[in-house]
Amino acid sequence: MLFVQLRYQFRVYPTPGQQMELARTFGCARVVFNDGLRARQEAREAGLPYVSDGELSKRVITEAKKTAARAWLGEVSAVVLQQALADLNTAYRNFFASVTGKRKGRKVAPPRFRSRKDNRQSIRFTRNSRFKVLDNGRLRLPKVGDLAVRWSRTLPSDPSSVAIIRDAAGRYFASFVVTVDAHETLPPVDAEVGIDLGLTHFAVLSDGTKVAAPKFLRRAARKLKRLQQDLSRKQKDSNRRKTAVVKVARAHARVADTRRDWQHKLSTQIIRENQAVYVEDLCVVGLGRTRLAKSVHDAGWASFTGMLEYKAARYGRTFGRVDRFFPSTRMCSACGRINEKMPLNVRSWDCPCGAAHDRDVNAARNVRAAGLADLNARGAHVRPALVPAARREAGTHPDAACSTRSVEGISVL
Ligand SMILES: [Zn+2]
Repeated sequence: MLFVQLRYQFRVYPTPGQQMELARTFGCARVVFNDGLRARQEAREAGLPYVSDGELSKRVITEAKKTAARAWLGEVSAVVLQQALADLNTAYRNFFASVTGKRKGRKVAPPRFRSRKDNRQSIRFTRNSRFKVLDNGRLRLPKVGDLAVRWSRTLPSDPSSVAIIRDAAGRYFASFVVTVDAHETLPPVDAEVGIDLGLTHFAVLSDGTKVAAPKFLRRAARKLKRLQQDLSRKQKDSNRRKTAVVKVARAHARVADTRRDWQHKLSTQIIRENQAVYVEDLCVVGLGRTRLAKSVHDAGWASFTGMLEYKAARYGRTFGRVDRFFPSTRMCSACGRINEKMPLNVRSWDCPCGAAHDRDVNAARNVRAAGLADLNARGAHVRPALVPAARREAGTHPDAACSTRSVEGISVL
């Protein structure tokens, strides 16, 4: 059996009373997180050893509850407090692994204090907190109450945890983690596809399909930009500014939602129609600092390739990333010859071998060929079974606890 963990997110509508309870719980989780961080920082400054996970839990939860200053921690679910500390511990582990080079990729920053002003507030209930989806469709959270949920899909099995999130636009979400059997797969197909993520098109497939970002999305992005400019002209600390901040947050959330829906449809279709999908492993972080930054972030490739990856795992398809240093654009997909570098405005070219190429389709064909070659070199199916779910929700994933702030609202655009 092959299992994958998936995340299912739904909008929830807490009553004003439940919103107050949630606010209190967000606050307690934040205090425990910050107390834990402070305790470790102070130990370090005093030259004392690293405070172990168990010792920290005793100090900032169990013992703290007995003091007058922290007695109110007893008013919320204890599991939520433990999970806040678990986030802190994971953030520390990721940081240490990054410093020592055990963790590849982008450098991970040390954990930072959480603030009530953070754009995104989040708490997590695990199974032993006894959260429950009731027969009437409500979500029962200990010490909060029964929340109304808008179920847009059915959960395939019992969730192992649920995170409650409040975003910058003041909306609430429940994000469930569900384990499913990956072998509830789609029927096998013969097609294998390479994808070139371009700047003129959102994506170009090796079969010649070109996908442009839809107009409504571009229009919404333009409107958002205008609202952001309005905001920058408002006076600091004025009421007008506060109103404008909320407007920007709402528009931002709308653009992100629309784009996610569109990307979901596109990635599902590609996974459905192909047995194997290969993409170029673009270093989006690196590109983001160049003049291409704007278009790269707007295009949202990272979230899109993330969707392809977890859907491939979910449905038994093959997914592969191809080394980004490989010259996909200037290599002829017909003869393999590597030609001169081409400026961005060259959209089609002819190879001395006689082949006429569309720039992006040729690149996509090369990505496909490189993906297949990689796969053959490794002999069998490539991808490991456990895939974190959609990238945008990494903030609630213990493995990415330290990136909570940067995930929602920024990278999704
Ligand atoms: Zn050629």
